Amino acid sequence: MKTLTELNFDNRFARLGDVFSTEVTPQPLEAPRLVVASEAAMALLDLDPAVAEDPLFTELFSAHKLWSTAEPRAMVYSGHQFGSYNPQLGDGRGLLLGEVVNEAGEHWDLHLKGAGLTPYSRMGDGRAVLRSSIREFLASEHLHALRIPSSRALCVTGSDTPVYRERQERGAMLMRLAPSHVRFGHFEFFYYTKQHDELKKLLDHVVESHFSECLEHPEPYHSFFREVLERTAEMVAKWQAYGFCHGVMNTDNMSILGITFDFGPYAFLDDFDARFICNHSDHAGRYSYENQVPIAHWNLAALAQALTPFIAIEQLRATMDLFLPIYETVWLDLMRKRLGFQTAEQDDKELIQRLLQLMQSSAIDYTRFFRELGDSPAERALARLREDFVDIKAFDEWAASYRQRSERESGDHEARRTRMHAANPKYILRNYLAQKAIEAAEAGDYGPVRELHGVLSRPFDEQPGMERYAERPPEWGKHLEISCSS
Ligand code: AMP
Ligand code: MG
Ligand code: MG
Repeated sequence: MKTLTELNFDNRFARLGDVFSTEVTPQPLEAPRLVVASEAAMALLDLDPAVAEDPLFTELFSAHKLWSTAEPRAMVYSGHQFGSYNPQLGDGRGLLLGEVVNEAGEHWDLHLKGAGLTPYSRMGDGRAVLRSSIREFLASEHLHALRIPSSRALCVTGSDTPVYRERQERGAMLMRLAPSHVRFGHFEFFYYTKQHDELKKLLDHVVESHFSECLEHPEPYHSFFREVLERTAEMVAKWQAYGFCHGVMNTDNMSILGITFDFGPYAFLDDFDARFICNHSDHAGRYSYENQVPIAHWNLAALAQALTPFIAIEQLRATMDLFLPIYETVWLDLMRKRLGFQTAEQDDKELIQRLLQLMQSSAIDYTRFFRELGDSPAERALARLREDFVDIKAFDEWAASYRQRSERESGDHEARRTRMHAANPKYILRNYLAQKAIEAAEAGDYGPVRELHGVLSRPFDEQPGMERYAERPPEWGKHLEISCSS
């Protein structure tokens, strides 16, 4: 266990030089206070959980103090936003403070979001508001607990610094952790500015630092692209299986590591709705729940384009064709687990799709359905759940097929329940839960955010006394308009 001053920095990205990032001094917040911290994230840096009580903790994570070995820098990147290429983006309101090497030898980027103006702030103020910082904190740590790859969040610091959005709000900072903050858009920037030597330097850095197993391959770059594609397909399969909608899948928000990254107006599905759009600025539904799969593929094609100087087009094309099969394998595997199946049968896909159609037409709660299905023996669970369906005849037909299919699985009811509960969260980060915790935090009460974070960090566990967090959302909670301005 380490204290805050004992962190060991090794700033590999900074060493790449000024073409890739610019030195910037973070701008402190007024009257900072700790809103919430994640012990699980602290453990990644070997930090003793008690350090969160130390005033130094809040001073560091509100930019009042800085480690002497940190090298705060804003990274440059570009990207496709809603399908159009934006040639100049970059860290506009977050800084890479440096890379901490933990006792296991892993590098963790410390990225302070909301740290003030940078050369890439464009029209923005470089700040993040409390609301969006809490939303990113909760989602990162919850996704991780759901076994969905994600960037992590160490803490949120609140303040008195005024920040203007649709109304006056207060500034906050999020301490984000990830093994790398390189995005698809980093590669696009160097490709479209025709800086191919720098593009190669970036590629070599990423492969050596994060994909070293690809170096064993006769064609390391090709193997790297394949790995990125595989990880991205797996990540999106997990999003779909658990109803996570990212909301802003621009290529600058796609991590090269295939982890969920840059949280904006995200949402988990309440009622199952394949066409659900969580981002209210997304009028065409480009980033709707069901479009996340083809969009991830499209984003990989944008990355592939940026890699054409180093990988043959035929190889990139052939690898692109692997996306859907990989996606489907992972998605089917998870959905089978959600239904309590340990084996794979040919007709499972159809059974799952039929269920989703029925859930869609009856607006069935996506999380609660699966949890309840595993709560009691199949017969009893189905009898209870059928009451929620509008087309009872169609549900009964589905239930008959499900029962027959379930009978071919081994194990008693107890084993089935244990298995299904391990695959089906009881607690999910619903927008209305985040909203209530945010309102309390904005009024100065951080208890609800901390409690919600605690509950969501063990989503598969029964947590006596916390059942209210697993209830059906109120009607208003299903129609929250989450603004993109964060
Ligand atoms: P996002 O929509 O959060 O992925 O951000 C897209 C781009 O806008 C990135 O380059 C951000 O750094 C930048 N940006 C977003 N909000 C702000 C802000 N308040 N101040 C400066 N830059 C911002
Ligand atoms: Mg793999
Ligand atoms: Mg972004």
